[in-house]
Amino acid sequence: MKINMEKRVMIVPCGDYDEANVRPALIELLNKARLEIRPGMKIGIKANLVTFLKPQTAGVTHFSLILELSRLLLELGAKVVVGDSPGGPFTKPALAAVYKATAMTRIEEIGGSLNYNTDIAHAEFPKAATISHFTYTAWLDEMDAVINFCKLKTHGMLGLSCAVKNLFGIVPGLTKPEYHYLYPDQRDFGNMLIDLNEFMKPKMLLNICDAVVGMEGNGPTSGSPRYVGCLMASKSPYALDIAAASMINLTHDESVTLPLSIERGLAPKSVEELEIDGDISKYFVGDYKKQPAHGTAFGGSGFFGKAVKTLLSPNPRLTPELCIGCGKCAEICPAKVITLKDMHPRIDRKHCIRCFCCQEFCPKGALRAKRSAVAHLFIREK
Ligand code: SF4
Ligand code: SF4
Repeated sequence: MKINMEKRVMIVPCGDYDEANVRPALIELLNKARLEIRPGMKIGIKANLVTFLKPQTAGVTHFSLILELSRLLLELGAKVVVGDSPGGPFTKPALAAVYKATAMTRIEEIGGSLNYNTDIAHAEFPKAATISHFTYTAWLDEMDAVINFCKLKTHGMLGLSCAVKNLFGIVPGLTKPEYHYLYPDQRDFGNMLIDLNEFMKPKMLLNICDAVVGMEGNGPTSGSPRYVGCLMASKSPYALDIAAASMINLTHDESVTLPLSIERGLAPKSVEELEIDGDISKYFVGDYKKQPAHGTAFGGSGFFGKAVKTLLSPNPRLTPELCIGCGKCAEICPAKVITLKDMHPRIDRKHCIRCFCCQEFCPKGALRAKRSAVAHLFIREK
């Protein structure tokens, strides 16, 4: 029987981050994926290293997985470079600090490399639905192939942070808020993420998801670790995200990119249409805590539609007792609608584009995506 690699999702058990479990799990996953690694091939592993988070926070791809994957690829004769573009300046000192916090520095002990090339490249991508010219991190051009190694997380703006969202990390750190500002509409932003995935497709060897311990609740940086117990992989980032969403009981309308990838004919309509190699039901976490993503179902065009959308959409809300008045939220806000008053952020909600960068980069988890009391009358959060 012919295997449709675009619909195929592989799932293998991985109970924890101990080398004794990680290595056999990754070997099984790579065998299922039938990767062809040529000696001398230069492979970039694009991890999720969103910011200075320790591995135990579940906010970043766990270093032990990246370490073992690098070791396996090196044993096959490949050259390995691990990298990402975290939030903030894309500079060598900033990268070094993130690699240290996330324990990625271990890669260098086994003969792999960490990316310190901070050059920027410019892409022309006429096939894009939204973004036909953009800047990206040039280190990826030096690679023969790329592995997208994401983390299973909830996300304030998008509902889900998994394979598709992880490729926002090919955009240089300080350009990311610009793109948020350029695409304040959720559909446009979601389509832009899909464009980045389509741009990278020719080089993309595999998408892998660290779903050993995911992040639930106030993700993608201030949520709580939640045990899931597996690794997932697919040639298609869209198929992988559909399977991952179903595993954490996230419906398509609770995500921005899932319905868009289906609409663009890049993914099947449901998890039932995927070819799943592994027992997905074993890892189902029915009460995984989610974020109230905008979804695409609310509101519409015109004055009334926009008003409904504004009323029902979540907003960043402050928990004052957690705020330390550091001002990071104001610094990162692409719409420049945050001012600090009495050491606490004040948000001009009328001009807020609901990108949730403030929530993502608050070091204390003091901001959360929340709906208003009125919205709760219409929408039952699951
Ligand atoms: S980033 Fe967080 S802790 Fe810092 S001022 Fe903003 S809300 Fe407060
Ligand atoms: S206040 Fe927060 S959600 Fe609103 S535009 Fe600024 S960073 Fe984005």
